[in-house]
Amino acid sequence: MKNVILLAPPAAGKGTQAHLLEEYYHLAHISTGDLLREASRTNEELRECLKSGHLVSDEIVLSLLKERLLNLKEEEGYILDGFPRTVAQAEDLKEISQKIHKEIGYVFLLEVPKEVLEQRITGRRICSTCGAIYNLNNEMERPTQKDICNRCHQALTTRQDDNLESFEVRYQTYLKQTQPLVSYYEKQNILYRIDSTKSKEEVFQKLKEILGD
Ligand code: AMP
Repeated sequence: MKNVILLAPPAAGKGTQAHLLEEYYHLAHISTGDLLREASRTNEELRECLKSGHLVSDEIVLSLLKERLLNLKEEEGYILDGFPRTVAQAEDLKEISQKIHKEIGYVFLLEVPKEVLEQRITGRRICSTCGAIYNLNNEMERPTQKDICNRCHQALTTRQDDNLESFEVRYQTYLKQTQPLVSYYEKQNILYRIDSTKSKEEVFQKLKEILGD
C-alpha cells in the first residue's frame, strides 16, 4: 500500500501530481485545501481565512482530514496534498496513520524557486467541476479553448487566494511553519527531493521511478 505526502510551497505542483498519482496508482487524493474550500461555501469566516493565505486552525483541518482517513477502504492507499503543514500536524498524522495501519512511506518535496511560483500563481486556472489544473503562463498547460476545461468542458475559475498578495503570506507561512518538516521527514529517511520546475510529465516520471509498480 502506498501512502504519500506531497510537501511543497504554493503552486509547486502538488495538485497536478496528486491527480496523476491518483489516476495511475488508484490512490485516494486527500487535499485539505479542497476540503476547506468546500466547507467554506457555508462558512464566511473560513472563506475570509482562506482568502488571506493564513493557515486554518488545526481543529477544523484535523476534523475534515480524520473523516476522510477513517473512511478509506482497508487496502486503499492515499496521497496527502497540503497536509501536514506544521510539525504539530505531522505528529497528529503519525498517531492517526498508526491507528488505521496506514503509515506514510514517501514524502515528496517538490522544489521550485520563488520567482517561478509567482508566475504560476497568476496564471493558474482551475476547473471547479473536475479539478483539472491549467496555467495560462505556460504554453504546455493552457486550455485548448480559452477559460474552458479540456476534460469536462466546464468554465475555468481562478482561486480567491491566487493573487500576489495572498501568495506572499502563503509563501512566508510555508517557510516558517512548513519547511521544518523537511528535516523532520529527512530524519525518518522517507523524504525525496524532486525538481518540480520540470514539465508535469517529467516530474511524474520521477515519482513513478521512486514509487515503483
Ligand atoms: P492549498 O489548496 O493546499 O494551497 O491550501 C489552501 C489554503 O487552505 C491554505 O492557504 C490554508 O489557508 C488552508 N489549508 C490547507 N491545508 C491546511 C493545513 N494542513 N493546515 C492549515 N491550513 C490549511
